Amino acid sequence: MSFPSSAGPDIPERVVVAGAGLAGLRTAEELRARGYGGEVTLVGAESRPPYDRPPLSKRVMAGELADITLRDDLDTLGIRLCLAETATGFEPAQEEPGGVLRTDRGEYRYDRLVLATGATPIALPGRGPQRFLRTLDDALTLRELLKPGLRLAIVGAGWIGAELATAAAARGGQVTVLEAAAAPLISAVGEQVGALTAAWYHAAGVDLRLGQPVGSVEPGGVALAGGGWLDADVVVTAVGVRPETGWLAGTGVALDNGVAADEQLRTSVPGVFAVGDCMAFWSLRYGRRLRFEHWDVALRAPATLAANLLGAAEAFDPVPYFWSEQFGKMVQYAGFHGAADRMLLRGDPAGDKWAACWLAGDWLVALLTVDSPRDLAQGRRLIESAAAVDEARLADPGVPVKATVVS
Ligand code: FAD
Repeated sequence: MSFPSSAGPDIPERVVVAGAGLAGLRTAEELRARGYGGEVTLVGAESRPPYDRPPLSKRVMAGELADITLRDDLDTLGIRLCLAETATGFEPAQEEPGGVLRTDRGEYRYDRLVLATGATPIALPGRGPQRFLRTLDDALTLRELLKPGLRLAIVGAGWIGAELATAAAARGGQVTVLEAAAAPLISAVGEQVGALTAAWYHAAGVDLRLGQPVGSVEPGGVALAGGGWLDADVVVTAVGVRPETGWLAGTGVALDNGVAADEQLRTSVPGVFAVGDCMAFWSLRYGRRLRFEHWDVALRAPATLAANLLGAAEAFDPVPYFWSEQFGKMVQYAGFHGAADRMLLRGDPAGDKWAACWLAGDWLVALLTVDSPRDLAQGRRLIESAAAVDEARLADPGVPVKATVVS
């Protein structure tokens, strides 16, 4: 896969961003923050101004928060916001970079184009109604349905499944979570650590059924792949998302589990960049292409992207960070344990606060903390600085994480 050489020092007259979620919004804001005075157009398929998704499965679902709009005053920044408009493709001009973004309403000429169309929940087969939790409309509809006694089947014990189960159980629902794998959160944190969260479901009165792949969603319930059946009033499918890239078919942009980008967030097409959940970038830190569905990536990558849109050649090279609030606990994760050769526990997982630390050689490469934000913050800095740590001290929750560095 080849990537064009750096965009060069020429300043574009028109930047068009496809996708008005956090990553798209932040890109537009960062351009203005750098003093960019050209045209900025943000095209978004949803009818609402950009809003924040993490609260959807947390405070919005709990009925504690209503307004999650990120900002609705983009006109004050001279940013044109085109809502309820879906990008359908783009065509590079003969003389790249530059081209035309096509939408279901018209087209926009660009000198630089940003692909920021996020991700879409994966659906299961079947004739029954299945619900998802990705948009504000999804969340408001689900919240209305969460009544005491509701038989709710959640397919998938990932982050979203766990957070929704938390809210639904608190509202008196009869919640069953069906998970195909042997533990919750396997794809995010592996079986050994994911298994440590299973007890939280039981304590909250949620029926967690592991090793139960769902075959299809049918009227009245869920058909298990192994032949069983679960009655349900409402079924929510939370088995993950796929990058929203279908609309790019035929554009020639290279895909690799999302829009393939280099470390400068440039795609294979000159003048076209990508950011957020739809994008898999080349990680210099980990020596591989990675795609994250992390709020923190959508928040921070646009600073690098905006600089590069304006001719810089900066690398985006983060230590990834994610958090989840489930079953009354704050779970935080930093790093990338795919790079680890072993894991150790810090503290007792049956207790209130603990952490899992992944090591590669003497280096801390990832950690997950439960109700231990200080450990997370200190560990994240150690991962960033690639400091060697003392394994025995790291396993001792009485020793601050930052004091485990071997000098
Ligand atoms: P999105 O937010 O998906 O925005 C993309 C936008 O593009 C959407 O509005 C979409 O409608 C639009 N779009 C799609 N196709 C087109 C098209 N063809 N044309 C025009 N527009 C289009 N992350 C965490 O780190 N911690 C959390 O606790 C957490 N909780 C979450 C809870 C929920 C319920 C969800 C759904 C996500 C959560 N996340 C969390 C993930 C985080 O919200 C995402 O990583 C972040 O929203 C990604 O931003 P984005 O702009 O790349 O994509």
